[in-house]
Amino acid sequence: MRMNKSGGNLPSSVNIAPLRRVSPSRFFRMNCCRLREVLISNNNEKLLPSSPNMYFGITAHNFLQNVGRGNITKEDFDNEWLSSITVLERQMLGTREEYLVPFNKSLRGYELKKRLLFKEASELIEVVGGKYKSNNKTFPGLERWFETGDSIVGGYIDKLAFTDTGIEIIDYKTGSIFNNDTHEIKEEYKYQMLLYAALLYENLNEWPSALKVYGLNGVIHSIYYSKEECIKVLNKAKEMFYEINELILENNNFIELQKYLANPAPEHCQYCEFRPLCNSYWEKREQSPHLNWNHDIRGHFESLKTLGNGTLLLKVKSATSIFKVRGLNPNRHLISISEGSFFSIYNLLADTNDNCFREKLTTVIYTNQQDM
Ligand code: SF4
Repeated sequence: MRMNKSGGNLPSSVNIAPLRRVSPSRFFRMNCCRLREVLISNNNEKLLPSSPNMYFGITAHNFLQNVGRGNITKEDFDNEWLSSITVLERQMLGTREEYLVPFNKSLRGYELKKRLLFKEASELIEVVGGKYKSNNKTFPGLERWFETGDSIVGGYIDKLAFTDTGIEIIDYKTGSIFNNDTHEIKEEYKYQMLLYAALLYENLNEWPSALKVYGLNGVIHSIYYSKEECIKVLNKAKEMFYEINELILENNNFIELQKYLANPAPEHCQYCEFRPLCNSYWEKREQSPHLNWNHDIRGHFESLKTLGNGTLLLKVKSATSIFKVRGLNPNRHLISISEGSFFSIYNLLADTNDNCFREKLTTVIYTNQQDM
């Protein structure tokens, strides 16, 4: 079986430069953890694999854009989609995300998601083709860039619909729109749309008549807003931009900078690809072990044994516990051991016994400590 070994040593340096802009689609996440957004905006290599849903979402969004621009016809849906997914899968071969290939196996509900996407794309063709049965007059092309006069906040709005009652801002979402706990539209989408409304006003001197989020199931959700709220969020985004950049310019030591920018919490760190670099994450989870953190462990090498079935059993000792990780595939991980080796292991499956874990598809092992 084809395998790409994951993990190994952490990078010896991190790119950190001031932000150039705040994007409405990233504002909410930036509010959750500024460090993660700074690392992403500086194109640092992701150290943990992303979810297949994220890749599906990006590919689906590009697909819809091309449909909206008239580059893909209904007859081409299957071929064009297959070719986009094939390109993506080829790019992943040989990377730490190779395990996602093929997508139709790694992504739960792949076929259903694809069918819903095609349904959305068919409706889009009708809208763009002018067959939309509504009062709407014109449908300019998809995606239009808007930014503030000082260029601090800016992003592409998926679509503007000029209707009899005013301009509607439309955003297409390919994932779940509602928060599972509150059953309300996710806050990140709400803030994104509020920022778009403020950007529209700043550029066209007109507030939108509606903010609408289109789901893949064809359902349209409206977000109600007040002008004051939009202005407040826009000001908050600018404040955050200045604060972050000031901190970056004042602190050239990454570990020091983390203290100001990181905001570790289970819900923020759960999908963060930079956990291996983040001391704040480890400190916080060690201070608050009762919280619902990811199954990640770290500590010094204790022992490594090959089991009867050919998999590895690794024991790692932290200040308080000895962790056992069984079922490690020796072909998957770069495990180099020397005196006092330090391991941090991510995305494990918890076993029934305390401090015992197993490997899963996304498990990654790093074999040194971050000291930049
Ligand atoms: S691990 Fe958590 S605190 Fe650290 S950068 Fe990621 S989200 Fe932020």
